[in-house]
Amino acid sequence: MFELLKTDSTSAARLGRLTTTRGVIDTPVFMPVGTQGSVKALDPRELDEMSTKIILGNTYHLHIRPGMDIIGEAGGLHKFINWTKPILTDSGGFQVFSLAKIRKIKAHGVEFRSHLDGSLLFLGPKESMSIQRQLGSDIAMVFDDCPPHTATAREVRGAVDRTIRWAAECREQPRAPGQLVFGIVQGGSHAAMREECAKELIKLKFDGYAIGGVSVGEPEPEMMKAVEYTTPHLPADQPRYAMGLGTPAQLVELVARGVDMFDCVLPTRVARNGTAFTHKGTISIKGGAYKRDWGPIEEACTCFACQRFTRAYIRHLLNVNEILGLRMVSVHNSHMYLKVMEDIRTNIRNGTFGEFRREFIANYVPSRKVLAARKSAAEVGEDDVR
Ligand SMILES: [Zn+2]
Repeated sequence: MFELLKTDSTSAARLGRLTTTRGVIDTPVFMPVGTQGSVKALDPRELDEMSTKIILGNTYHLHIRPGMDIIGEAGGLHKFINWTKPILTDSGGFQVFSLAKIRKIKAHGVEFRSHLDGSLLFLGPKESMSIQRQLGSDIAMVFDDCPPHTATAREVRGAVDRTIRWAAECREQPRAPGQLVFGIVQGGSHAAMREECAKELIKLKFDGYAIGGVSVGEPEPEMMKAVEYTTPHLPADQPRYAMGLGTPAQLVELVARGVDMFDCVLPTRVARNGTAFTHKGTISIKGGAYKRDWGPIEEACTCFACQRFTRAYIRHLLNVNEILGLRMVSVHNSHMYLKVMEDIRTNIRNGTFGEFRREFIANYVPSRKVLAARKSAAEVGEDDVR
């Protein structure tokens, strides 16, 4: 199912290949986020053009709207959205704990009120796995307890215990044909709890392991710590997935720490504000500086937007609220993320990842605004935060 092809000599970076029933995925991989059954502003043809191998869907959101009766009638999520390649579905745990109004945490799940209409709903390991089975995703995630980064050690302890118990329950549930199931390691930035959670989950023998409880508004050093406390305890011959991360520079650093899979809403979210990712950091195309800029968003970029349009034109589109503007920035940003991962894979394969990493980090100037966009979204529980 997962083949570890090469490990970098200068870091923990890994080159791998994940085989699912709907396709082979070269890792490290970036997975564009299609929370509501669509990668925001992009169509499947564009995703194909930028060599997308797998996208995300979300149990919580799809369960609320359009509901499983509709998706079931369509013949599953792939058919409903007409995407034939692999889909990973998040379990809904993150949304229940960050978005919904929780009424009661019970032994077998959470009673909560929908963030949309306040209706009373219940989601636990059994319900989440059943929904993911009906969605027919290629990779399902266990239903976990994802505490905020402000949680006390005692609260994190409770979340870890619940996560382990619920993971065991998820493990017992029936799956869709060929569906892989990944466990999620919680434990905040506590080394001992991360280790314990990882070890307990490994006993349950999942197909892969995710690092959860990151991208919940924590500062970057804490996020890196959470990852560093987890990856050494995960099996080398299975895929590792850091949930909801991050900026391009963070992805390079997380690959160097042994992570294989990523998803993040940043490329499409910031695109909607006219922010483009480049290898030097982000630029705000709406700015007056680009009024007469006849170059593409990024020189040497091979995306559809950069091949055809100037910054001046895209700036104009954004400023008059033409949909094409935010669509083209979304195309560029998503393409950029996928290209960075392709470059990472090429460099690990060629034994040059160490140099690539050094150069990438030296060139990339992180923008406080972009990091804040992630943080504030997590704090207000914006619905496509993951
Ligand atoms: Zn481009």
